[in-house]
Amino acid sequence: MNLFNKKPFIAGNWKLHKNISESIQLAKSIKQGTNKKEGAEIVIIPPYVSLSEVKKTLLKSNILLGAQNVFWEESGAYTGEISPSMIKDAGCDFVIVGHSERRQYFGDTDERVNKKVKAVLSAGLHPIVCIGETLEERENNKTMDKVRAQITKGLKGINQDQISDVIIAYEPIWAIGTGRTATPKQAEKVHEFIRNQLEEMVGKDTSSCAIILYGGSVKPKNAFSLIKEKNINGALIGGASLEADSFVEIIEEAKKAYKEK
Ligand code: PEP
Repeated sequence: MNLFNKKPFIAGNWKLHKNISESIQLAKSIKQGTNKKEGAEIVIIPPYVSLSEVKKTLLKSNILLGAQNVFWEESGAYTGEISPSMIKDAGCDFVIVGHSERRQYFGDTDERVNKKVKAVLSAGLHPIVCIGETLEERENNKTMDKVRAQITKGLKGINQDQISDVIIAYEPIWAIGTGRTATPKQAEKVHEFIRNQLEEMVGKDTSSCAIILYGGSVKPKNAFSLIKEKNINGALIGGASLEADSFVEIIEEAKKAYKEK
């Protein structure tokens, strides 16, 4: 899959929301709202139990499916875990790795993120790797140190060819679910830094192959100005992806922003 084709990339992370029938309903409404329109790469990311049913709902649409987490082993005595190939089998092309909520509540470290990224790539899936600083780190001018460490450890061993299969989501933790968003300039500064880090790591220009999303209280009213920034290729959206209207509106704003880049 050529991920980078000059379209904004918009992903909706439903977190621990929506049972199976609610997931089908929301997927149907998003499908109707976007109505096979070209111009954006759209991914929805429901809870595990809804994946297969949502996949059926998405037939004959351009909307793709992702999972919220994954384990790095393919099979074995790991009660409660899901492997990359199981996620693929359920119809996913994407999987979130290292979301700040997984790091905060479920022990995901950069080392675990790295194992997951490698397993996901081996299975032919695309990891959406989440990175970002706390408010305290930002206030102490540690944002770039934190982001650099998360990239170098989380993507350790990733080569030139693989980088185009990886999506990075810069999500300042202080902006997730808080209604507080990074300003476009604040976000762009970190996105540019991330791109430079990636280029240093893999030794090639990534401006036309590595997708870097912004996440953190993205809403219809702020999506345009964020996505218009040079190194912001789209958004990972939590709260505003739970209603079809706001999610579809963000997609429209992202498309407008891309036209003006
Ligand atoms: C997220 O959880 O990835 C996220 C960005 O959430 P929200 O849009 O609600 O801040």
